[in-house]
Amino acid sequence: MNFKIISIILTAIGSIGLIISLFPAKYICQIDKKNCISWKALGALILFFIFGYVFFISMVLNGTGSAIELAVSLILCGGGIFVPLVINLSIRSINRIITITKREEHRAAHDALTNLPNRAKLLEQVVSAINYAEITSQTVSLLLLDIDRFKEINDALGHQHGDYLLQLTAARLYSCTRETDTISRLGGDEFAIVLPGADLDQAISVSEKVARIMEEPFLVKDYNIKIEISIGIAMYPDHGTDSEELLKRADIAMYTAKRRDRVYAIYDMEQDKYTMDRLKLTEELRDGIKNQHLLLHYQPKVSIANNKICGVEALVRWQHANQQILLYPDEFVMLAEQTGLIKALTLSVLDKALGQASTWHQAEFEIPMSINISIKNLQDLNFPFQVKELLEKWQVDASMLTFEITESSVMLDPERTFEVISNLCSLGLHISIDDFGTGYSSLAYLKQLPAAEIKIDKSFVIDMLDDENDAVIVRSTIDLANNMGLRVVAEGVENQHILEQLSRLGCDIMQGHHICPPLPPEKIFSLTDNEMLITFAAA
Ligand code: C2E
Ligand code: CA
Ligand code: CA
Repeated sequence: MNFKIISIILTAIGSIGLIISLFPAKYICQIDKKNCISWKALGALILFFIFGYVFFISMVLNGTGSAIELAVSLILCGGGIFVPLVINLSIRSINRIITITKREEHRAAHDALTNLPNRAKLLEQVVSAINYAEITSQTVSLLLLDIDRFKEINDALGHQHGDYLLQLTAARLYSCTRETDTISRLGGDEFAIVLPGADLDQAISVSEKVARIMEEPFLVKDYNIKIEISIGIAMYPDHGTDSEELLKRADIAMYTAKRRDRVYAIYDMEQDKYTMDRLKLTEELRDGIKNQHLLLHYQPKVSIANNKICGVEALVRWQHANQQILLYPDEFVMLAEQTGLIKALTLSVLDKALGQASTWHQAEFEIPMSINISIKNLQDLNFPFQVKELLEKWQVDASMLTFEITESSVMLDPERTFEVISNLCSLGLHISIDDFGTGYSSLAYLKQLPAAEIKIDKSFVIDMLDDENDAVIVRSTIDLANNMGLRVVAEGVENQHILEQLSRLGCDIMQGHHICPPLPPEKIFSLTDNEMLITFAAA
């Protein structure tokens, strides 16, 4: 073969390479729209080259087949193969970048646990639903959903199983929405559902459906877990005209649902004011606890057999800095429980009560002290250590201290609560079961509790002479306590008839306005046994 034929073959191979590279160049123009012009220019350049190659082949055909022509054709062949290779490699890189970008975009807009859209994506979806509704004069419903007491469930199950429960919840939510509706997870146990074009009736019906579906127990870690949910509903345009506002208002409605123990609540202005007031009050309470604005009143418990005070119950009051009034527990204890301030509140109360016990002890006024303990304290493994420190600080004997706990607080997370209670008891203090009869009493649990005392709730005592049901509860509680070898205290003794009836039934410790109201400490100390008798007889 001479140089001429080899040169023609090499140039032909090069030009075939160039022709082939036109296809991927066209493909790139379609996927890489941003740089489409540059790729089109490259395509034009390749065409230009192809003409050059064809021209060179015709030159070789008419030429003598020199070594120079062979050298040029080698370069052209290499160039012709190089171009499609480079373009194909570029395609691979572009595709890889596109895949990574898509994955990143998905990750940025979705929640890793449930693969549902996240808060940022939800806001985008609300914006587009609002824009569409604006044009079509429709409404948009936003449902915000939260699992009640999820933190406790999560702590009890362990985080891994808690996560699984969230995944199951997400899957169930899917099953009760339409294709056009979107579900997202805002974080924690909070989910949102956007219903484009849905009116209030539809929003309510979806909420009810969601609640029904969530009623079925979830099988997690071999346990059947029952959850309860609260849903807040906010509507475009009635409750908000932008996505952030709508979300905020659905949130407010959700807290209203929680507070009222309802499945769902619809936003209204009044709630909003309530929420703002609550936020303000929470901050004031935080400052109040820090600045020692809590004070204690003490209500005597009296042993009817000898008319002697056998203990006092410390009841917290809040001297509100701005309002110049004394606030009672009904106005702030629940708030403290819901906002996490209760731990600080209990420690402040305990510090004051033990300080008072120590003062009384120095004045040789030995009096057992009862303190109300929240469910949150009983789930805090650190609490017994803090109690121990305060007992040491004030040099008070633990046997002088009784913690009043409610029966329902034990039922929620029995394992952990029992551990805390048993650690408290090993310090030497006593346990009393408060508000007895108001929770879901389970004898099985009560029997396990190292309680020394049961307090019959005042709601039964107050009406026991008029209401047969209340009378039965009072009577059977006294019998139960006697059988279990527990002391029984009746609270809410408001008159002499109740007192006498309770005495007849075998209850010998009583507490109530008829005997003595809660009083500031200086008034308690002036109540010598004689004075108590007078108060008691005069009442
Ligand atoms: P409780 O533990 O059932 O306390 C008894 C409540 O009944 C007190 O109300 C007391 O003033 C009231 N009371 C006493 N005798 C009578 C009576 O004859 N008739 C009527 N109708 N009521 C009577 P208070 O001081 O307003 O406390 C209300 C609740 O607040 C308490 O109920 C307790 O659950 C909670 N609480 C009070 N102090 C604290 C505290 O320091 N920490 C915690 N966590 N809760 C507290
Ligand atoms: Ca109490
Ligand atoms: Ca009570």
